[in-house]
Amino acid sequence: MNSRRLRTRCCIVGGGPAGMMLGVLLARGGVDVTVLEKHADFLRDFRGDTVHPSTLQVLSELGLLEAFHRIPQRREQQILARFADGELPLGDFRGLAPFDYLALAPQWDFLDLLAEAGRQCPGFSLHMRTEATALQHDQRGRVTGVAARDGDGELHIDADLVIACDGRQSILRAQSGLEIEAFGAPMDVLWFRLPRLPSDPDHTYGAPARGRMLVMLNRNDYWQCAYLIRKGSGDAMRRHPLQVFRDLVAPLLPFEASRMDAVDSWEAVKLLEVRIDRLRQWHLPGLLLIGDAAHAMSPIGGVGINLAIQDAVATANLLGPALRTDGEFDDALLPRVEQRRRLPTRVIQRIQRIAQQRIIAGLLDDAPGDLLPTPALLRWLSRFLWFRHIPARVFGYGIRREHVRFGNAR
Ligand SMILES: Cc1cc2nc3c(=O)[nH]c(=O)nc-3n(C[C@H](O)[C@H](O)[C@H](O)COP(=O)(O)OP(=O)(O)OC[C@H]3O[C@@H](n4cnc5c(N)ncnc54)[C@H](O)[C@@H]3O)c2cc1C
Repeated sequence: MNSRRLRTRCCIVGGGPAGMMLGVLLARGGVDVTVLEKHADFLRDFRGDTVHPSTLQVLSELGLLEAFHRIPQRREQQILARFADGELPLGDFRGLAPFDYLALAPQWDFLDLLAEAGRQCPGFSLHMRTEATALQHDQRGRVTGVAARDGDGELHIDADLVIACDGRQSILRAQSGLEIEAFGAPMDVLWFRLPRLPSDPDHTYGAPARGRMLVMLNRNDYWQCAYLIRKGSGDAMRRHPLQVFRDLVAPLLPFEASRMDAVDSWEAVKLLEVRIDRLRQWHLPGLLLIGDAAHAMSPIGGVGINLAIQDAVATANLLGPALRTDGEFDDALLPRVEQRRRLPTRVIQRIQRIAQQRIIAGLLDDAPGDLLPTPALLRWLSRFLWFRHIPARVFGYGIRREHVRFGNAR
């Protein structure tokens, strides 16, 4: 096997939303940047498609919004809850500016768009099918790059700074020895698709019931469905005949049960192990972790992509100017990224933990039963637009919004 050496100013490991956005921002700002992505392309299983206003704002600041609008997508202005006695709008983007909707767009198209934007910049280098396998250190223990492997063998990438964006299973995080604070989650999620007919309801919504909950994302020609199950029960569930699963979900659908026949094998049902965790410290000399690698989020609110993008923007703003110069990189800058992004991460995780403990855990503890009736207080509150704006603002626009200050040069 060959062993080759490359040198770059900044090596980003992971071509997900955090890594690709950071790569584009740094390259646009004139930094020599190398992004490693272990897969051959971005086309993977469903892994989150909600593009919130905070991300739309970043795309707009980068001049990429028009290109994003060309991706097949669905715009949602309201998120509904479906109760036994009717539907209720719980999140409402109408009246919010500058974006009064959230977009549902395939993540692989979004990442392709970022890759294309990166390729326009001379300093951007994207290595697909290249997997980082280990951190490299100097005698003082400072991270100096990564070892990786691609189709041609072993590769060493020497870098002044390594940024780990390799997601919730981050191998660099495991190797760094940084301490993780993990918070339990009462649920896991089974994801599957159902065909959508023109006569179907037109919204995206959640349907809470005794012992279970179904979330249905309207993707125009299909429904992307999330069925919540008790933590750790996924494998047992998948040992049952598929019909057991179909029968559990069917009563929560807003249309005939036979549509579940479209789920024709357990292969079509993907398990997401929900977890909430975060690093106590996001950096070491020569190394920074952002996105899911620094903090895995619950799917509540669909914030994972958007928080990862906000981390990337903050990182580029805070580190970009120093990375653009030739001198030795100053590690004292790294805590600033963590300081900036710690609060938004904590606040959203806190809200997710409260929702999980106070609402979802209680639901899933019951035996499977009917849709819940509308809570009277919720019915009353949901009449007010300001109340429906709260989730739209908190999840959609986020806490401490980041604006592109480094990397908006095209
Ligand atoms: C089934 C599912 C549904 C979800 N639903 C939503 C949703 O509706 N809305 C939402 O906002 N979020 C959702 N999420 C979460 C969201 O996808 C993540 O929070 C978000 O993608 C995090 O971005 P990231 O760039 O930090 O990490 P990731 O998206 O995980 O990207 C990490 C990248 O690193 C690559 N990689 C990993 N290890 C290496 C290595 N050693 N070398 C090179 N490359 C490597 C991976 O292939 C991947 O491309 C969902 C996640 C899943 C799994």
